[in-house]
Parts: sequence; C-alpha cells; structure tokens
Amino acid sequence: MSENRVTVTCGDCALSETFDSLGTAREFIEEHRVETGHDPTWEFGALAAGVERAGDEAGVCGSPGCTDTDSPLYRGE
Ligand SMILES: [Zn+2]
Repeated sequence: MSENRVTVTCGDCALSETFDSLGTAREFIEEHRVETGHDPTWEFGALAAGVERAGDEAGVCGSPGCTDTDSPLYRGE
C-alpha cells in the first residue's frame, strides 16, 4: 500500500498532505486549485525514481506545454 503514497504540497501556501491513493490526491489538488487558484504539486514517495523513468519512457517531459497535466505522470514545478 505504501508504494502508492502521494504527498501533495503547494508552493503558494503551507499546504502539505499525504494520501494513500493517487485518485484522492488528484481530487484534493483539483479542489485546491479551484478554491484558491494555487498550483499544488505532488510527489510520489518511494516511487519517485520509477515515475521519473516512466515519464521518460512515455515521452512526458513534465512541462505543461507538451503534456497532459491530467496525466498521473505529469510532474509540475
Ligand atoms: Zn495553496
């Protein structure tokens, strides 16, 4: 279960929450965006390296201009 751990942080406020489910974290981010206009980011605990590699393999560069920001592989700044 812990491999699905996602930490959501926001550079615009002191937000920092940890979720066990990607879907829940994503909903939380969307909610925070709508409510505050902030742009929170998420971090995959133990999976960080693997996700980065998967992103390379999928051709996701992490920039909003060339990838779907709804993708679970998207890595915001
Ligand atoms: Zn915020």
